[in-house]
Amino acid sequence: MSSAAYSPEDQERLRERFALQRERLADAARRAGRQPDSVRLIAVSKTQPAAALRAAYEIGQRDFGENYVQELLAKAEALADLPDLRFHLIGHLQRNKARQVAGVVSAVHSVDSVRLAQELGKRAERARVPEARRWSVAGAERPGLPVLVEVNVGGEASKSGCAPEELESVLAAVEAEPALCLAGLMTVPPFTEDPAGAAPAFQRLVALRDRSGGAARLPELSMGMSHDAEVAIAEGATLVRIGTALFGPRPPRGS
Ligand SMILES: *Cc1c(COP(=O)(O)O)cnc(C)c1O
Repeated sequence: MSSAAYSPEDQERLRERFALQRERLADAARRAGRQPDSVRLIAVSKTQPAAALRAAYEIGQRDFGENYVQELLAKAEALADLPDLRFHLIGHLQRNKARQVAGVVSAVHSVDSVRLAQELGKRAERARVPEARRWSVAGAERPGLPVLVEVNVGGEASKSGCAPEELESVLAAVEAEPALCLAGLMTVPPFTEDPAGAAPAFQRLVALRDRSGGAARLPELSMGMSHDAEVAIAEGATLVRIGTALFGPRPPRGS
C-alpha cells in the first residue's frame, strides 16, 4: 500500500468525483420520490491507499467500506489520527477474524451465519467502538455494533451471504446478542451488463425485508454500487456502496 499523499490535482479530481456522485445519488432519490438524505454514501476504498481515504475525509466523507480485514486494520492504524472516520466491513468475514475487527469497525454489512453473529457478538461485548466512531442506524443512535445480514438473493455459488431460507435464524441470532444492533439487510446482485438487470435482485431483498418485520425491524438496505446505484435507490436502498466511481479504477490487491 503506497502512503504517498495525494497531489493537489488528485485532490481536486477526487473532490469533483465526490460532488458528482453525491449529486447522482440525490437525483436518483428525488426521482424515486425520496428525500436525498435518506440515502447515505459508503465510499468503498478497498485496495486504495490510506492517502485516498485521508483525501476523501478532508472533503467531508466519513463512512468507508473495506473488504479485507488485514487491509482494514492497516488503514485504521494509518488513519488513527482521524477520530471520527468510520469503517464499514462489507466483505466476507471469517469467524476467526471477528476478534480483530471488534472495536475497530463501526458497522458490519456482511454477517451471513448464526455462528458468525454469535462470535461477533461475543467479541463486540469485549471491545466496544469508541464513541467518536459510532455509526447511527437510520439516523438514530442505538447501543451495540450495527450489523446487516447479507443475503445471497441470486443464489450464486460464488457469492457470500446466507440463503433466503436461513435469513430468519441469522436475524434472530443477531438480535440475541446484546452487543450487536440489527440494522438491516445487504446484498450484492448477480452482475448484469445493463444496470436495470439488478432490479429483480433488489426487489427480492425488499420482499424478504417486508416479510421479516419490515423497516421497523430492518431499517437499512445496503444495496447498489457504482454500476447500479440509481436502480438500487429506486428500489429503496438507504446505503449505497460506491468505489470506482469515486476513487477511479482500483489498484490490484497488495500493490
Ligand atoms: C467492491 C465492492 C463495492 C464497490 O464496487 P464499485 O463497483 O467499485 O462501486 C460495493 N460492495 C461490495 C460488497 C464490494 O465488494
